[in-house]
Amino acid sequence: MREPTVFIVSAPSGSGKSTLVQRLLATVSELIFSISYTTRRPRGQERNGEHYFFIGRDQFRRMIQGEELLEWAEVFGQDLYGTARRFYDEARERGYDLVLDIDVQGAAQVKQKLPWARSIFILPPSRRELEERLRRRGEDAEEVIQRRLQRAGREIGGYSQYDYVIINDDVDRAAERLCAIVLAARWEKRHPERSPAGEGGEVQGWFALAEACRTEAVEPRVAPVLRTFLEAKSQ
Ligand code: 5GP
Repeated sequence: MREPTVFIVSAPSGSGKSTLVQRLLATVSELIFSISYTTRRPRGQERNGEHYFFIGRDQFRRMIQGEELLEWAEVFGQDLYGTARRFYDEARERGYDLVLDIDVQGAAQVKQKLPWARSIFILPPSRRELEERLRRRGEDAEEVIQRRLQRAGREIGGYSQYDYVIINDDVDRAAERLCAIVLAARWEKRHPERSPAGEGGEVQGWFALAEACRTEAVEPRVAPVLRTFLEAKSQ
């Protein structure tokens, strides 16, 4: 049986992560999305078993004790969130790869257990853009928006532990990059003896896009984005 490649996607809320993950799942075949378990209450239109499995703290603790979780974390010092191992097992049985939408703490745990995992951090183009998106969404009260922006400022600093960074300034381009990262990693794993340089334009295209998203390559463009958050903090 082939071990799945795990793709970890993290981002502050409002960065467009859910849309990008949906685009990835609609475009690239043989991917399973892991639905997390959480102790937080459902919001708005969220449904149990679709967005999350909403469970109580006691059940969550039992899952930890039973070693049912691949990783788990207390996010924002409030609620517990975790990834069930069974999604990984299912991906392995089917020969699929696995996509996780988890936070920075979870990403570090998964990378330690599964070094082959590829981690991707999605960044908004600026603090102002993130603020406008959160307002356009119309889901949150002003106070919640301000809290999300503060959290985003803290979370964003964790980008450097990720393998890739995508600045979501254009949703089509960002989705194309996310797909390319997944397809290039999958190709590399399935053809360890081959070099993409000897392949057709499509494979080379995935690699070119994926390499351009490597954290080291994106670094110069990340600095101005971080500055917009730091400047807001000092005001
Ligand atoms: P929200 O409550 O807004 O849906 O998610 C809050 C944060 O929890 C997000 O950063 C999200 O990526 C993270 N998260 C969701 N599921 C998991 C999980 O299973 N494990 C970890 N570590 N973080 C998660």
